[in-house]
Amino acid sequence: MTGPQATPHDLVGVGIGPFNLSLAALADGVPGLSTLFLDEKPAFSWHPGMLLDGATLQVPFLADLVTLADPVSPWSYLNYLREHDRLFPFYFTERLHIPRREYEHYCRWVAGSLPACRGSAHVDALAWDAGRELFEVCFTDASTGERHAVLARDVVLGIGTAPTVPDALRPVLGERAFHSAGFLDRRAGLSGARDVTVIGSGQSGAEVFLDLLRTPPSEGARLRWLTASPAFAPMEYSKLGLEHFTPDYTRYFRTLPEPTRDRLVPSQWQLHKAISQETIAQIYDLLYDRAASGASTPAVLMPNIEVAGSHSGPDGIELVCRHVEQGREFRVRTDAAVLATGYVPRRPALLDPLADLIDWDERGRYRVDADYRVALRPDVAGRVYVQNAELHTHGVGAPDLGLGAHRAAVILNSVTGRAVYRLPQRTAFTDFGVSESEPEPEPEPESPSPAPEVLDAPAHAR
Ligand SMILES: Cc1cc2nc3c(=O)[nH]c(=O)nc-3n(C[C@H](O)[C@H](O)[C@H](O)COP(=O)(O)OP(=O)(O)OC[C@H]3O[C@@H](n4cnc5c(N)ncnc54)[C@H](O)[C@@H]3O)c2cc1C
Repeated sequence: MTGPQATPHDLVGVGIGPFNLSLAALADGVPGLSTLFLDEKPAFSWHPGMLLDGATLQVPFLADLVTLADPVSPWSYLNYLREHDRLFPFYFTERLHIPRREYEHYCRWVAGSLPACRGSAHVDALAWDAGRELFEVCFTDASTGERHAVLARDVVLGIGTAPTVPDALRPVLGERAFHSAGFLDRRAGLSGARDVTVIGSGQSGAEVFLDLLRTPPSEGARLRWLTASPAFAPMEYSKLGLEHFTPDYTRYFRTLPEPTRDRLVPSQWQLHKAISQETIAQIYDLLYDRAASGASTPAVLMPNIEVAGSHSGPDGIELVCRHVEQGREFRVRTDAAVLATGYVPRRPALLDPLADLIDWDERGRYRVDADYRVALRPDVAGRVYVQNAELHTHGVGAPDLGLGAHRAAVILNSVTGRAVYRLPQRTAFTDFGVSESEPEPEPEPESPSPAPEVLDAPAHAR
């Protein structure tokens, strides 16, 4: 292993997904700031298993890596278009929601251009060197197998979330049952299947179902779409609803008591776990066109279905299901299953050397402050920041690309101790909470002694 370099970096980022890339882009050119961002992949890629034809970003292109914090940055999407001579076509296409493939290409251009971004570097350990008051970030170079270490004053974790599969579906994981994160890589394995089941009704489940509907794995294959949710519901996309994805809402959410926050996040599923109206319309129109053309539509769409168990056998996969509202149990036999069952926060092994220095909450989660800084033991002078690991403290905006540039600017301002980026004071029209300066209600006047009861008044008079 090569020893750490003598001069520490001010900030080392672990992971180069959109969020740390945003930070790398905003940090680029900040005078006197030394940064390094490491990712295990050789080059930037963004959910490659879900880069489906026709899939678009769920947020307008202004939610690129920098614009909402620094519209004049050279790393904006518009400048990317200029550099690739595509400004005029973009102007005429009049699209707010750009193709997912193009967004990935844009990010790849930024990551490939920034000298602070380094690929093929799997970070395996993050340790605090109390003597030097610096973090030691250890990583393995994937191409040579060599181990290296770098020193950092501060660290930011941007390692994303991990695909998750519920216990009930684990027994069938294999060649013909896999998480939607690997859909494009494994789609060929579905070839010839006569009956395919998609489980989960978030955006990924909808896109997988649409893709299979457009190109079934075999002629006349039956497609089934099951979800435990009460409906194939649209994502909340009203203008006021979208204000939940503002720094104002994030600020408000942070002030709520932990039990309230923990109750709120799952109850807000339609803000972040539902389906875009456009994808629902595409699915519906395809089903309609098929029905109208007289073709039988071997498609089954069922909400309210909980999969309680599963097993594989010589006849394929059997799912033990229960209709949540009817309470009825039934079984589904299928040849293959795509599990669009979501993503969960990671607690990476690289944190093991630091685990005792982190002030975890009662549920083993980070405590994250307004600057996205993780609470550490008071004697640790260095700072660890997180991006997209603070859903429980900052609310539904945590995984949203629209808040990425703002959060990265907050972190950068905190790291440098000055307002490198001036950030807006007010970002929503909605007042989410009552401010402390709001006058409290006058105390109720003493109520007069109760009037004598009218004994013969009818019981239902009110
Ligand atoms: C298919 C899909 C589409 C989405 N579309 C949208 C959308 O349109 N709009 C929106 O607002 N949100 C969207 N999201 C949600 C969210 O914005 C994305 O998941 C986004 O990629 C999160 O970015 P990230 O930087 O946190 O993590 P990721 O993109 O997951 O990147 C994390 C990076 O960390 C690296 N890494 C992890 N561990 C290590 C390690 N130990 N050492 C080195 N590197 C490591 C990984 O290789 C990876 O490159 C989408 C999510 C999915 C799954």
